Amino acid sequence: MNRPARLTDLYDRYMTAAKLHRAHSESCDTCRPDAPCETGRPLWERFTRLQDAYLTELCKQQH
Ligand SMILES: [Zn+2]
Repeated sequence: MNRPARLTDLYDRYMTAAKLHRAHSESCDTCRPDAPCETGRPLWERFTRLQDAYLTELCKQQH
């Protein structure tokens, strides 16, 4: 089954956000998994928001 372009685009943004967040948290001494620092928080929020959006979209495609 071909993925619609929208889903591919969303996936790309989700992966980029995940990469940015991971890169930050690995190099940041202040971030903790349950409490990101001020720099890490927006990265983490963007990542979780895109993850939710992607999974929601994926679910719609499969039903
Ligand atoms: Zn941090």
